Amino acid sequence: MAEGQKAVVDQGVCTGCGICVDVCPHGALELVDGLAKLTKPELCDGSGECVEACPVQAISLK
Ligand code: SF4
Repeated sequence: MAEGQKAVVDQGVCTGCGICVDVCPHGALELVDGLAKLTKPELCDGSGECVEACPVQAISLK
C-alpha cells in the first residue's frame, strides 16, 4: 500500500457488479447510478482490496 493513495474508479470500464463495494473494509465505495464511486474518500486508506477484487480492472490507486 502506498501512502496517501486512493481508489480511482474508471467508470467507463466499471460494470457495476458491486464486488468492490462489498470488499472494501472501510465502506468508502458505493454504487451510484449503477457504477462504483468513491463516495467517502476520507475513509479510503489505499489498501487496495478493491483493486485486487475488481474483475475488470476498473480501479487503480492514484
Ligand atoms: S468491482 Fe470493478 S466492475 Fe465491479 S463495481 Fe467495483 S469497479 Fe465496478
